[in-house]
Amino acid sequence: MNWFKNKVNASRRGFLGGALGSVAGAAALGTMWADETVEAYQGNVRTASKPSDLKITDLRYAHVVGAPMSCPIIRIDTNQGIYGYGEVRDGASVTYALMLKSRLLGENPCNVDKIFRKIKQFGFTSRQAGGVCGIEMALWDLAGKAYNVPAYQLLGGKFRDKIRIYVDTTESHDPKVYGARLKNRMEQGFTWLKMDLGYDLVEDTPGTVSHPLDVTSKTTARTQHFFTGIELTDKGIGMMSDYVAAIREMVGMDVPLSADHFGHIGVNSCIRLGKAMEKHNLAWLEDMIPWQFSDQLKEIKDAVNIPIATGEDIFLKEPFIELCRKNAIDIIHPDLASSGGLLETKKIGDAAMELGHAMAMHFAGTPVSFMANVHCAAATENFLALEYHSDEIPWWQDLVTGPAKPLIDKGFAAIPEAPGLGIELNADVVKQHLAPGTSYFGPTEEWNKERSHDRLFS
Ligand SMILES: [Mg+2]
Repeated sequence: MNWFKNKVNASRRGFLGGALGSVAGAAALGTMWADETVEAYQGNVRTASKPSDLKITDLRYAHVVGAPMSCPIIRIDTNQGIYGYGEVRDGASVTYALMLKSRLLGENPCNVDKIFRKIKQFGFTSRQAGGVCGIEMALWDLAGKAYNVPAYQLLGGKFRDKIRIYVDTTESHDPKVYGARLKNRMEQGFTWLKMDLGYDLVEDTPGTVSHPLDVTSKTTARTQHFFTGIELTDKGIGMMSDYVAAIREMVGMDVPLSADHFGHIGVNSCIRLGKAMEKHNLAWLEDMIPWQFSDQLKEIKDAVNIPIATGEDIFLKEPFIELCRKNAIDIIHPDLASSGGLLETKKIGDAAMELGHAMAMHFAGTPVSFMANVHCAAATENFLALEYHSDEIPWWQDLVTGPAKPLIDKGFAAIPEAPGLGIELNADVVKQHLAPGTSYFGPTEEWNKERSHDRLFS
């Protein structure tokens, strides 16, 4: 019966197109589009609210800590009682979202792209994009709830039925301990591993690292790689290679093993270390140098026969496209909470795919942002694997209800079919992990009137 009604309404829409502009057509419209017909037509669209009348009325937050990161969850409220959840990137200030509240009030949250274009000027590299991206997530959650469809469907549908998770592992300087931890991940069903491989592993052994004598890995955390004067010796590289060999011996050569956090070493050391890793067939070398230096990244990529990955701090698609066009990297690695949210990250993945690059996804938040990633990963064809940092946090998945638990089962996440992001917050658990001195979605009226002349041209 519904099929019949849709069919009739579709042919009426066709008639409408042809009849517009003529008096006869207008008269005919009067009879054919009687109020009941319009209502019947609207009745066939499964909406959970009246999307065209929806307006944003509030933006509040609950700041979760120890997940293991510090992650402000935001909630956008509307005039129809439905609300959307998003999350400001791990480690970022919730102010990045709150300062945008006055720009959101009164907007229809279903106009996700329109609002994103209005606020994206307030995002910047890394955590500074956290507010824009968290709001974008919440808008998809709302639009999905308004139209009663999961977020991945609004992005164009899915390419897969479950999302591959790659898991991070707490570091140990003892390769046997680290290898055992990684092996345990495989026993849990994870199909892709990642390890940290910093030169701090070897720096206490004399003769492994050349460096200005008062400089260490600890004193250079805020100095970019090219400016530390730190270079690895053959002995240091040999020890790091032996370390990875011992781990490979435990986990085998079949499982993809990515590596990250090499330390702030120069480009030449990156290349020599990368070459030494070729025999261990690492899945990718991540952020060897800052992403902004695409010429030097290309130098590393051209010299090393292991995939080079970067991107967790990049905001918007243009820098990703430049890196891919230049062939300065192999794999893009956006963090959806910095790259621009679900739609921009899908655009990033699609653009990279056209240029021959796969997309892995960086992630270190709560299940709210996790589900935003899951929907985006489902809808982006060149997706490889999504990061997961919270395997050792027992209450992590209890922050939400809705999807079946465990949220990550044998190395994969199921894609929610409920509207929007497909989750509800578990208030009791969230309240147990709030940042000291903060409230559970308390009022934020002080941000209602924040104004500036935001035009980017004159
Ligand atoms: Mg990383």
